[in-house]
Amino acid sequence: MNPTRLLKRFLPLVLALIPAMAFLIHAAAPGEPAKIKAMLLTGQMNPYHDWKVTSARIEALLEATGRFDVTQVVSPAKGEDMSTFNPDFASYDVVILDYDGDSWSAATKKRFENYVSGGGGFVVHHSSDNAFTDWPAFNEMIGVGGWGGRDKAFGPILRWRDGQQIHDYATDGGAIHPKKHDFTITLRDTTHPITRGMPREWMHAHDEIYSRLRGPIGSTRILATATADPSMRNGTGEHEPMLMTNYFGQGRIFHTTLGHVGINEPQPIRQTQCVGYTVSLQRGAEWAATGSVTIPIPHHFPTADKASIED
Ligand code: ZN
Repeated sequence: MNPTRLLKRFLPLVLALIPAMAFLIHAAAPGEPAKIKAMLLTGQMNPYHDWKVTSARIEALLEATGRFDVTQVVSPAKGEDMSTFNPDFASYDVVILDYDGDSWSAATKKRFENYVSGGGGFVVHHSSDNAFTDWPAFNEMIGVGGWGGRDKAFGPILRWRDGQQIHDYATDGGAIHPKKHDFTITLRDTTHPITRGMPREWMHAHDEIYSRLRGPIGSTRILATATADPSMRNGTGEHEPMLMTNYFGQGRIFHTTLGHVGINEPQPIRQTQCVGYTVSLQRGAEWAATGSVTIPIPHHFPTADKASIED
């Protein structure tokens, strides 16, 4: 067969394949999993935190892995009409919450409950566990939270004592934290996909140790704690949970208490540049979305003695 006839014979086949080839080029490269669709839900925060700065940071550090396709969903501003705020949760693999503000409509709450209980991933970031004190299902999802009226009557404190997690019904008082400082994170579960391969102790930079967090707890498991130095003001002397997992129905939840960003806090924000903060959030979000973790622990991860900071 001469070349011209060969071309004529196979040209229709080649033309027919072009759409499929274009699809393959746009799809993930061979061996790479499809990107995780992540909703970063933000737009309101309590007066002590700057959601615009945190959310920009969370979006950047998730996108930097190449593993996530992040969409910021910004709520109406505080005091505005929330009745039409109805994010399309079901279109995402994971929802990262950077929000403590006005209540959502009953319909939106119900859709979020259905999304998580149906297997959707959920990440609770730092002060987002201050939100929605009066929403029972939300408290079941986050396991424990702080402030907003979460006092002794609200539920036990989750803590680590004598080599295991305990429910502390005896201690009075709502959540507190010492002022920001560098402190040691101690892994309490070294085999979970999120923490596997991290040093058992690592130095976290310049952050708040959330303490006396309370709630229904449920199936919450502590992955890592920090000891709130009793010589500091508001230091409880207890091993307080810093990284946690939970389940709500089929949904996986990752809860990090790290990542404070104050209003008008001078930038760069050291605590959100901590490689331990960054990598635990990236891996926690991947686990919440998929149930497994592929994002590696980098060589410059903090050690027991030394924090690690990067832009
Ligand atoms: Zn804070």
